[in-house]
Amino acid sequence: MIKNMMIISMTLFCAIGYGQTKQNAKYVFLFIGDGMGASQVYTTEMYLNAKPNEIKSEKLLMNSFPVNSNMTNYSASSYVTTSCAAATAMSTGFKTNNGIIGKSPDKKIAYENISQKAKKAGFKVGILSSVMIDHATPASFYAHQDSRNMYYEISMELPNYNIDYFGGGGFHHPKGKKGDQPDSFENAIKKGYTIADSHEEFNKLKNGDEKIIAINPEKYPTGEFYWAIDKKEDALSLADFTKKGIEVIDNDKGFFMMVEGGKIDWACHGNDGVSMVHEVIAFNDAIKEAFEFYKERPDETLIIVTADHETGALTTGINYATHPELLKYQIISVQEFKRKMTELKNTDPKVSFNTILDLVQADFGLGNKDVGLSLDDKELALLKSAYNKQFKGHKKVNADADYLTKTKTKSMGETAAYILNEKAGINWGSGNHSGTPIPVRVIGKGQEEFSEYFDNTDLPKKILKLMGI
Ligand SMILES: [Zn+2]
Repeated sequence: MIKNMMIISMTLFCAIGYGQTKQNAKYVFLFIGDGMGASQVYTTEMYLNAKPNEIKSEKLLMNSFPVNSNMTNYSASSYVTTSCAAATAMSTGFKTNNGIIGKSPDKKIAYENISQKAKKAGFKVGILSSVMIDHATPASFYAHQDSRNMYYEISMELPNYNIDYFGGGGFHHPKGKKGDQPDSFENAIKKGYTIADSHEEFNKLKNGDEKIIAINPEKYPTGEFYWAIDKKEDALSLADFTKKGIEVIDNDKGFFMMVEGGKIDWACHGNDGVSMVHEVIAFNDAIKEAFEFYKERPDETLIIVTADHETGALTTGINYATHPELLKYQIISVQEFKRKMTELKNTDPKVSFNTILDLVQADFGLGNKDVGLSLDDKELALLKSAYNKQFKGHKKVNADADYLTKTKTKSMGETAAYILNEKAGINWGSGNHSGTPIPVRVIGKGQEEFSEYFDNTDLPKKILKLMGI
Protein backbone atom coordinates (compact mmCIF):
# COMPACT_ATOMS: atom_id res chain seq x y z
CA MET A 1 0.00 0.00 0.00
CA ILE A 2 2.71 2.43 1.04
CA LYS A 3 4.72 1.35 -1.96
CA ASN A 4 1.70 1.95 -4.22
CA MET A 5 1.09 5.38 -2.65
CA MET A 6 4.71 6.24 -3.29
CA ILE A 7 4.42 5.19 -6.91
CA ILE A 8 1.21 7.23 -7.28
CA SER A 9 2.73 10.33 -5.69
CA MET A 10 5.92 9.89 -7.72
CA THR A 11 3.86 9.62 -10.90
CA LEU A 12 1.82 12.66 -9.89
CA PHE A 13 4.99 14.62 -9.13
CA CYS A 14 6.49 13.66 -12.46
CA ALA A 15 3.23 14.49 -14.26
CA ILE A 16 3.09 17.96 -12.67
CA GLY A 17 6.76 18.53 -13.29
CA TYR A 18 6.46 17.39 -16.87
CA GLY A 19 3.22 19.31 -17.32
CA GLN A 20 4.85 22.57 -16.20
CA THR A 21 7.74 22.31 -18.61
CA LYS A 22 5.38 21.08 -21.30
CA GLN A 23 3.18 24.11 -20.84
CA ASN A 24 5.57 26.97 -20.31
CA ALA A 25 8.37 28.68 -22.11
CA LYS A 26 10.82 29.10 -19.26
CA TYR A 27 13.57 30.89 -21.15
CA VAL A 28 12.41 33.56 -23.56
CA PHE A 29 14.57 35.62 -25.90
CA LEU A 30 13.11 38.58 -27.78
CA PHE A 31 15.49 39.89 -30.42
CA ILE A 32 14.58 43.26 -31.93
CA GLY A 33 16.49 44.40 -35.00
CA ASP A 34 15.79 48.13 -34.94
CA GLY A 35 14.80 49.22 -38.43
CA MET A 36 15.18 45.68 -39.76
CA GLY A 37 12.59 44.98 -42.45
CA ALA A 38 12.60 41.99 -44.79
CA SER A 39 14.80 43.90 -47.29
CA GLN A 40 17.49 44.54 -44.68
CA VAL A 41 17.67 40.82 -43.94
CA TYR A 42 17.57 39.80 -47.60
CA THR A 43 20.24 42.35 -48.60
CA THR A 44 22.48 40.84 -45.92
CA GLU A 45 21.87 37.35 -47.28
CA MET A 46 22.70 38.56 -50.79
CA TYR A 47 25.85 40.26 -49.50
CA LEU A 48 27.09 37.14 -47.73
CA ASN A 49 26.67 34.96 -50.78
CA ALA A 50 27.41 37.44 -53.52
CA LYS A 51 29.64 36.44 -56.38
CA PRO A 52 29.68 38.09 -59.81
CA ASN A 53 27.26 36.49 -62.28
CA GLU A 54 25.85 34.04 -59.76
CA ILE A 55 22.42 34.16 -58.15
CA LYS A 56 22.50 32.51 -54.76
CA SER A 57 21.03 33.27 -51.37
CA GLU A 58 21.80 31.31 -48.25
CA LYS A 59 19.67 31.91 -45.21
CA LEU A 60 20.76 33.71 -42.08
CA LEU A 61 20.09 31.72 -38.91
CA MET A 62 16.99 33.80 -38.10
CA ASN A 63 15.47 32.89 -41.48
CA SER A 64 15.95 29.19 -40.83
CA PHE A 65 13.55 29.27 -37.88
CA PRO A 66 10.38 27.23 -38.50
CA VAL A 67 7.85 30.01 -37.90
CA ASN A 68 7.91 32.89 -40.39
CA SER A 69 5.21 35.50 -40.17
CA ASN A 70 4.68 39.25 -40.19
CA MET A 71 3.60 41.82 -37.68
CA THR A 72 1.88 45.20 -38.07
CA ASN A 73 3.47 48.02 -36.15
CA TYR A 74 1.47 51.25 -36.56
CA SER A 75 1.41 53.54 -33.54
CA ALA A 76 -1.52 55.34 -31.90
CA SER A 77 -0.60 58.49 -33.82
CA SER A 78 0.66 57.24 -37.20
CA TYR A 79 0.88 54.31 -39.62
CA VAL A 80 4.62 54.95 -39.44
CA THR A 81 5.84 54.23 -35.94
CA THR A 82 8.92 55.32 -34.04
CA SER A 83 11.04 52.94 -31.98
CA CYS A 84 9.55 54.00 -28.65
CA ALA A 85 5.90 53.60 -29.69
CA ALA A 86 6.67 50.22 -31.29
CA ALA A 87 8.72 49.01 -28.33
CA THR A 88 6.02 50.22 -25.92
CA ALA A 89 3.51 48.10 -27.86
CA MET A 90 5.89 45.12 -27.76
CA SER A 91 6.60 45.49 -24.04
CA THR A 92 3.18 46.53 -22.68
CA GLY A 93 0.57 45.45 -25.25
CA PHE A 94 -0.68 49.03 -25.65
CA LYS A 95 -0.34 51.44 -28.56
CA THR A 96 0.97 54.89 -27.79
CA ASN A 97 1.90 58.02 -29.74
CA ASN A 98 5.21 58.40 -31.51
CA GLY A 99 7.73 59.81 -29.07
CA ILE A 100 6.31 58.37 -25.82
CA ILE A 101 7.98 55.67 -23.67
CA GLY A 102 5.76 53.21 -21.76
CA LYS A 103 2.83 55.57 -21.24
CA SER A 104 -0.62 56.15 -22.74
CA PRO A 105 -1.09 58.67 -25.58
CA ASP A 106 -2.32 61.29 -23.07
CA LYS A 107 0.71 60.48 -20.89
CA LYS A 108 -1.52 59.90 -17.86
CA ILE A 109 -1.18 56.12 -17.50
CA ALA A 110 2.17 54.40 -16.97
CA TYR A 111 1.77 50.89 -18.38
CA GLU A 112 3.25 47.90 -16.62
CA ASN A 113 5.68 46.24 -19.03
CA ILE A 114 6.74 42.65 -19.64
CA SER A 115 9.98 43.08 -17.65
CA GLN A 116 8.06 44.22 -14.56
CA LYS A 117 5.57 41.37 -14.94
CA ALA A 118 8.29 38.77 -15.44
CA LYS A 119 10.20 40.06 -12.38
CA LYS A 120 7.04 39.88 -10.23
CA ALA A 121 6.49 36.29 -11.37
CA GLY A 122 10.02 35.35 -10.24
CA PHE A 123 11.80 35.30 -13.60
CA LYS A 124 15.13 37.01 -14.10
CA VAL A 125 15.26 39.75 -16.73
CA GLY A 126 17.99 40.98 -19.06
CA ILE A 127 17.84 44.05 -21.32
CA LEU A 128 20.55 44.49 -23.95
CA SER A 129 21.30 46.85 -26.80
CA SER A 130 24.15 47.88 -29.07
CA VAL A 131 23.12 51.51 -28.58
CA MET A 132 22.64 53.47 -25.37
CA ILE A 133 20.74 51.50 -22.76
CA ASP A 134 18.52 54.56 -22.20
CA HIS A 135 17.68 54.75 -25.93
CA ALA A 136 14.08 54.31 -27.17
CA THR A 137 13.86 50.52 -27.61
CA PRO A 138 15.61 49.27 -24.44
CA ALA A 139 14.05 52.13 -22.44
CA SER A 140 10.55 50.99 -23.40
CA PHE A 141 11.27 47.67 -21.65
CA TYR A 142 11.68 49.35 -18.26
CA ALA A 143 10.90 53.10 -18.27
CA HIS A 144 7.81 55.29 -18.37
CA GLN A 145 8.50 58.80 -19.65
CA ASP A 146 6.66 61.45 -21.66
CA SER A 147 9.40 61.61 -24.27
CA ARG A 148 12.14 59.38 -25.63
CA ASN A 149 14.41 62.43 -25.53
CA MET A 150 14.29 62.49 -21.72
CA TYR A 151 17.45 60.36 -21.65
CA TYR A 152 18.49 61.55 -18.22
CA GLU A 153 15.11 60.83 -16.61
CA ILE A 154 15.09 57.41 -18.29
CA SER A 155 18.57 56.56 -16.96
CA MET A 156 17.50 57.70 -13.48
CA GLU A 157 14.44 55.42 -13.66
CA LEU A 158 16.47 52.44 -14.86
CA PRO A 159 17.44 50.98 -11.45
CA ASN A 160 13.89 51.08 -10.05
CA TYR A 161 12.73 47.63 -11.14
CA ASN A 162 15.54 45.32 -9.99
CA ILE A 163 16.20 44.15 -13.53
CA ASP A 164 19.04 41.68 -13.26
CA TYR A 165 21.26 42.47 -16.23
CA PHE A 166 21.62 45.48 -18.48
CA GLY A 167 24.16 44.99 -21.23
CA GLY A 168 25.57 46.97 -24.11
CA GLY A 169 25.80 50.74 -24.55
CA GLY A 170 26.13 53.40 -21.88
CA PHE A 171 23.92 56.30 -20.81
CA HIS A 172 23.43 59.18 -23.23
CA HIS A 173 23.40 62.05 -20.73
CA PRO A 174 24.47 60.52 -17.37
CA LYS A 175 24.64 63.98 -15.78
CA GLY A 176 21.72 65.53 -17.65
CA LYS A 177 21.77 67.53 -20.87
CA LYS A 178 23.74 70.37 -19.33
CA GLY A 179 25.91 68.06 -17.24
CA ASP A 180 24.76 69.61 -13.96
CA GLN A 181 22.52 66.84 -12.54
CA PRO A 182 23.33 64.04 -10.05
CA ASP A 183 25.10 61.23 -11.92
CA SER A 184 22.75 58.45 -13.05
CA PHE A 185 25.52 55.82 -12.70
CA GLU A 186 25.94 56.81 -9.05
CA ASN A 187 22.16 56.67 -8.66
CA ALA A 188 22.22 53.09 -9.97
CA ILE A 189 25.10 52.15 -7.66
CA LYS A 190 23.20 53.60 -4.68
CA LYS A 191 20.31 51.34 -5.61
CA GLY A 192 22.52 48.25 -5.50
CA TYR A 193 23.79 48.02 -9.09
CA THR A 194 27.32 47.10 -10.10
CA ILE A 195 28.73 48.81 -13.18
CA ALA A 196 31.10 46.66 -15.27
CA ASP A 197 32.60 48.88 -17.95
CA SER A 198 36.01 47.36 -18.63
CA HIS A 199 37.03 44.06 -20.23
CA GLU A 200 38.34 42.89 -16.88
CA GLU A 201 35.11 43.63 -15.00
CA PHE A 202 33.05 42.19 -17.84
CA ASN A 203 35.03 38.94 -17.83
CA LYS A 204 34.61 38.61 -14.06
CA LEU A 205 30.80 38.60 -14.25
CA LYS A 206 29.41 35.18 -13.44
CA ASN A 207 26.26 33.16 -12.92
CA GLY A 208 24.14 34.45 -10.06
CA ASP A 209 25.47 38.02 -10.12
CA GLU A 210 22.58 40.38 -9.57
CA LYS A 211 21.81 43.95 -10.64
CA ILE A 212 24.51 44.31 -13.26
CA ILE A 213 25.01 47.14 -15.75
CA ALA A 214 27.62 45.87 -18.22
CA ILE A 215 28.83 48.56 -20.60
CA ASN A 216 30.97 48.15 -23.68
CA PRO A 217 34.30 49.99 -23.20
CA GLU A 218 34.50 50.27 -27.02
CA LYS A 219 31.85 52.88 -27.74
CA TYR A 220 31.27 56.42 -29.00
CA PRO A 221 31.13 59.20 -26.36
CA THR A 222 27.33 59.34 -26.85
CA GLY A 223 27.11 55.75 -25.58
CA GLU A 224 26.53 53.53 -28.63
CA PHE A 225 28.86 50.76 -29.90
CA TYR A 226 31.27 51.53 -32.70
CA TRP A 227 29.96 50.31 -36.06
CA ALA A 228 30.28 46.56 -36.55
CA ILE A 229 32.07 47.20 -39.88
CA ASP A 230 34.78 49.18 -38.02
CA LYS A 231 35.01 46.77 -35.08
CA LYS A 232 38.48 45.98 -33.77
CA GLU A 233 39.11 42.28 -33.32
CA ASP A 234 39.15 42.19 -29.51
CA ALA A 235 36.29 44.67 -28.99
CA LEU A 236 33.17 43.32 -27.30
CA SER A 237 30.22 42.58 -29.58
CA LEU A 238 26.48 42.29 -29.05
CA ALA A 239 27.01 38.51 -29.22
CA ASP A 240 29.53 38.76 -26.32
CA PHE A 241 27.00 40.69 -24.24
CA THR A 242 24.29 38.15 -25.06
CA LYS A 243 26.52 35.21 -24.13
CA LYS A 244 27.52 36.91 -20.88
CA GLY A 245 23.90 37.84 -20.14
CA ILE A 246 22.82 34.21 -20.50
CA GLU A 247 25.62 33.15 -18.16
CA VAL A 248 24.69 35.76 -15.54
CA ILE A 249 20.89 35.30 -15.43
CA ASP A 250 20.54 31.58 -16.16
CA ASN A 251 18.51 30.04 -13.30
CA ASP A 252 15.99 27.28 -12.63
CA LYS A 253 12.93 29.52 -12.58
CA GLY A 254 13.66 31.01 -16.03
CA PHE A 255 14.30 34.37 -17.62
CA PHE A 256 13.16 36.92 -20.18
CA MET A 257 15.83 38.60 -22.26
CA MET A 258 15.38 41.41 -24.80
CA VAL A 259 18.29 42.03 -27.16
CA GLU A 260 18.25 44.99 -29.53
CA GLY A 261 20.42 45.38 -32.62
CA GLY A 262 20.09 49.15 -32.40
CA LYS A 263 22.41 50.40 -35.12
CA ILE A 264 20.69 48.65 -38.03
CA ASP A 265 18.27 51.57 -37.80
CA TRP A 266 21.03 54.15 -37.56
CA ALA A 267 22.80 52.85 -40.67
CA CYS A 268 19.48 52.91 -42.53
CA HIS A 269 18.77 56.50 -41.45
CA GLY A 270 22.15 57.35 -42.99
CA ASN A 271 21.42 55.17 -46.09
CA ASP A 272 24.73 53.42 -45.43
CA GLY A 273 23.87 50.02 -46.89
CA VAL A 274 27.11 48.22 -46.14
CA SER A 275 27.24 49.36 -42.51
CA MET A 276 23.62 48.17 -42.22
CA VAL A 277 24.62 44.74 -43.55
CA HIS A 278 27.38 44.44 -40.93
CA GLU A 279 24.95 45.44 -38.17
CA VAL A 280 22.51 42.71 -39.29
CA ILE A 281 25.38 40.18 -39.27
CA ALA A 282 26.35 41.27 -35.71
CA PHE A 283 22.69 40.94 -34.68
CA ASN A 284 22.47 37.48 -36.24
CA ASP A 285 25.65 36.52 -34.34
CA ALA A 286 23.90 37.48 -31.08
CA ILE A 287 20.95 35.26 -32.07
CA LYS A 288 23.45 32.40 -32.51
CA GLU A 289 24.29 32.63 -28.79
CA ALA A 290 20.63 32.20 -27.87
CA PHE A 291 20.34 29.37 -30.37
CA GLU A 292 23.22 27.53 -28.66
CA PHE A 293 21.27 27.83 -25.39
CA TYR A 294 18.09 26.67 -27.13
CA LYS A 295 19.81 23.54 -28.44
CA GLU A 296 20.52 22.46 -24.85
CA ARG A 297 16.96 23.11 -23.63
CA PRO A 298 14.66 23.04 -26.68
CA ASP A 299 11.57 22.08 -24.68
CA GLU A 300 11.79 25.11 -22.42
CA THR A 301 13.27 27.82 -24.63
CA LEU A 302 11.59 30.25 -27.02
CA ILE A 303 13.43 32.59 -29.39
CA ILE A 304 11.54 35.35 -31.20
CA VAL A 305 13.30 37.54 -33.74
CA THR A 306 11.52 40.61 -35.04
CA ALA A 307 11.84 44.38 -35.51
CA ASP A 308 10.13 47.55 -34.38
CA HIS A 309 9.78 48.95 -37.91
CA GLU A 310 11.61 49.19 -41.21
CA THR A 311 13.96 52.13 -41.82
CA GLY A 312 14.95 53.76 -45.12
CA ALA A 313 12.18 52.30 -47.34
CA LEU A 314 14.86 49.95 -48.63
CA THR A 315 14.29 47.85 -51.74
CA THR A 316 16.62 45.48 -53.49
CA GLY A 317 17.07 45.88 -57.21
CA ILE A 318 16.84 48.83 -59.57
CA ASN A 319 15.41 47.98 -63.02
CA TYR A 320 15.94 44.23 -62.47
CA ALA A 321 19.61 44.76 -61.67
CA THR A 322 21.45 43.90 -58.48
CA HIS A 323 25.18 43.58 -57.94
CA PRO A 324 25.53 42.85 -54.23
CA GLU A 325 29.09 41.61 -54.80
CA LEU A 326 30.11 45.27 -55.27
CA LEU A 327 29.15 46.09 -51.69
CA LYS A 328 32.21 44.19 -50.41
CA TYR A 329 34.47 47.01 -51.58
CA GLN A 330 33.18 49.33 -48.85
CA ILE A 331 35.36 48.59 -45.83
CA ILE A 332 34.52 51.48 -43.50
CA SER A 333 31.36 53.10 -42.10
CA VAL A 334 30.31 56.43 -43.57
CA GLN A 335 30.71 57.93 -40.09
CA GLU A 336 34.36 56.85 -39.78
CA PHE A 337 35.08 57.99 -43.34
CA LYS A 338 33.63 61.38 -42.38
CA ARG A 339 36.02 61.44 -39.45
CA LYS A 340 38.95 60.69 -41.79
CA MET A 341 37.89 63.55 -44.05
CA THR A 342 37.49 65.95 -41.13
CA GLU A 343 40.97 65.09 -39.85
CA LEU A 344 42.39 65.50 -43.33
CA LYS A 345 40.76 68.90 -43.67
CA ASN A 346 42.39 69.98 -40.43
CA THR A 347 45.88 68.69 -41.29
CA ASP A 348 45.88 69.42 -45.04
CA PRO A 349 43.22 72.01 -45.90
CA LYS A 350 44.44 72.25 -49.51
CA VAL A 351 44.21 68.52 -50.20
CA SER A 352 43.47 67.88 -53.90
CA PHE A 353 40.37 66.25 -55.33
CA ASN A 354 42.52 63.48 -56.82
CA THR A 355 43.95 62.61 -53.41
CA ILE A 356 40.41 62.37 -52.05
CA LEU A 357 39.40 60.19 -54.99
CA ASP A 358 42.21 57.78 -54.12
CA LEU A 359 40.87 57.53 -50.57
CA VAL A 360 37.34 56.99 -51.87
CA GLN A 361 38.66 54.16 -54.03
CA ALA A 362 40.55 52.58 -51.13
CA ASP A 363 37.52 52.58 -48.80
CA PHE A 364 34.57 52.22 -51.23
CA GLY A 365 36.15 50.65 -54.32
CA LEU A 366 34.74 53.49 -56.43
CA GLY A 367 36.88 54.27 -59.47
CA ASN A 368 38.31 50.76 -59.65
CA LYS A 369 37.54 49.73 -63.23
CA ASP A 370 38.86 46.20 -62.71
CA VAL A 371 36.06 45.31 -60.28
CA GLY A 372 33.28 47.00 -62.23
CA LEU A 373 33.23 50.21 -60.21
CA SER A 374 34.37 52.83 -62.70
CA LEU A 375 32.87 56.28 -62.20
CA ASP A 376 30.96 58.07 -64.96
CA ASP A 377 30.86 61.85 -65.41
CA LYS A 378 27.68 62.25 -63.36
CA GLU A 379 29.12 60.32 -60.42
CA LEU A 380 32.40 62.23 -60.60
CA ALA A 381 30.44 65.48 -60.59
CA LEU A 382 28.56 64.37 -57.46
CA LEU A 383 31.82 63.60 -55.67
CA LYS A 384 33.37 66.88 -56.88
CA SER A 385 30.40 68.79 -55.53
CA ALA A 386 30.75 67.09 -52.12
CA TYR A 387 34.49 67.84 -52.19
CA ASN A 388 33.86 71.51 -53.03
CA LYS A 389 31.35 71.84 -50.21
CA GLN A 390 33.49 70.12 -47.64
CA PHE A 391 36.99 71.27 -48.55
CA LYS A 392 36.54 74.53 -50.46
CA GLY A 393 33.35 75.90 -49.06
CA HIS A 394 34.50 75.71 -45.43
CA LYS A 395 31.28 73.93 -44.50
CA LYS A 396 31.76 71.85 -41.43
CA VAL A 397 30.87 68.18 -41.58
CA ASN A 398 30.08 66.70 -38.23
CA ALA A 399 31.36 63.12 -38.25
CA ASP A 400 28.94 62.13 -35.50
CA ALA A 401 25.89 63.68 -37.08
CA ASP A 402 24.49 60.59 -38.80
CA TYR A 403 21.53 60.14 -36.57
CA LEU A 404 21.34 62.34 -33.53
CA THR A 405 21.67 65.60 -35.44
CA LYS A 406 21.22 65.84 -39.17
CA THR A 407 23.33 68.21 -41.24
CA LYS A 408 22.29 69.41 -44.66
CA THR A 409 25.77 69.13 -46.15
CA LYS A 410 26.22 65.83 -47.96
CA SER A 411 29.70 64.63 -47.07
CA MET A 412 32.15 62.75 -49.28
CA GLY A 413 31.35 59.55 -47.38
CA GLU A 414 27.60 59.89 -47.79
CA THR A 415 28.03 60.62 -51.50
CA ALA A 416 30.36 57.64 -51.98
CA ALA A 417 27.91 55.32 -50.17
CA TYR A 418 25.05 56.67 -52.29
CA ILE A 419 26.92 55.92 -55.54
CA LEU A 420 28.01 52.47 -54.38
CA ASN A 421 24.50 51.53 -53.22
CA GLU A 422 23.05 52.62 -56.60
CA LYS A 423 25.61 50.53 -58.48
CA ALA A 424 24.83 47.51 -56.29
CA GLY A 425 21.08 47.96 -56.77
CA ILE A 426 20.39 48.91 -53.16
CA ASN A 427 17.66 51.48 -53.33
CA TRP A 428 16.74 53.84 -50.48
CA GLY A 429 13.32 55.47 -50.58
CA SER A 430 13.93 57.76 -47.61
CA GLY A 431 16.11 58.51 -44.62
CA ASN A 432 13.32 57.69 -42.20
CA HIS A 433 11.06 54.88 -41.03
CA SER A 434 8.46 53.24 -43.24
CA GLY A 435 5.15 51.68 -42.24
CA THR A 436 5.67 48.29 -43.83
CA PRO A 437 4.84 45.23 -41.68
CA ILE A 438 7.93 43.56 -40.28
CA PRO A 439 9.23 40.00 -40.23
CA VAL A 440 8.74 37.67 -37.26
CA ARG A 441 10.93 34.56 -36.98
CA VAL A 442 10.37 32.09 -34.15
CA ILE A 443 11.72 28.81 -32.86
CA GLY A 444 11.02 26.89 -29.68
CA LYS A 445 8.40 26.32 -27.03
CA GLY A 446 5.04 27.61 -28.24
CA GLN A 447 6.38 28.78 -31.62
CA GLU A 448 3.03 28.03 -33.32
CA GLU A 449 1.50 30.89 -31.31
CA PHE A 450 3.27 33.32 -33.69
CA SER A 451 2.45 31.67 -36.99
CA GLU A 452 -0.30 34.03 -38.13
CA TYR A 453 -0.18 37.67 -39.17
CA PHE A 454 -0.59 39.66 -35.94
CA ASP A 455 -0.16 43.11 -34.42
CA ASN A 456 2.77 44.20 -32.24
CA THR A 457 0.44 44.73 -29.25
CA ASP A 458 -0.24 40.97 -29.29
CA LEU A 459 3.43 40.10 -28.98
CA PRO A 460 3.78 40.56 -25.18
CA LYS A 461 0.40 38.91 -24.60
CA LYS A 462 1.56 35.82 -26.47
CA ILE A 463 4.89 35.74 -24.63
CA LEU A 464 3.32 36.18 -21.18
CA LYS A 465 0.78 33.44 -21.91
CA LEU A 466 3.57 31.06 -22.93
CA MET A 467 5.58 31.96 -19.83
CA GLY A 468 2.51 31.18 -17.71
CA ILE A 469 2.30 34.74 -16.34
ZN1 LIG B 1 14.95 55.12 -36.32
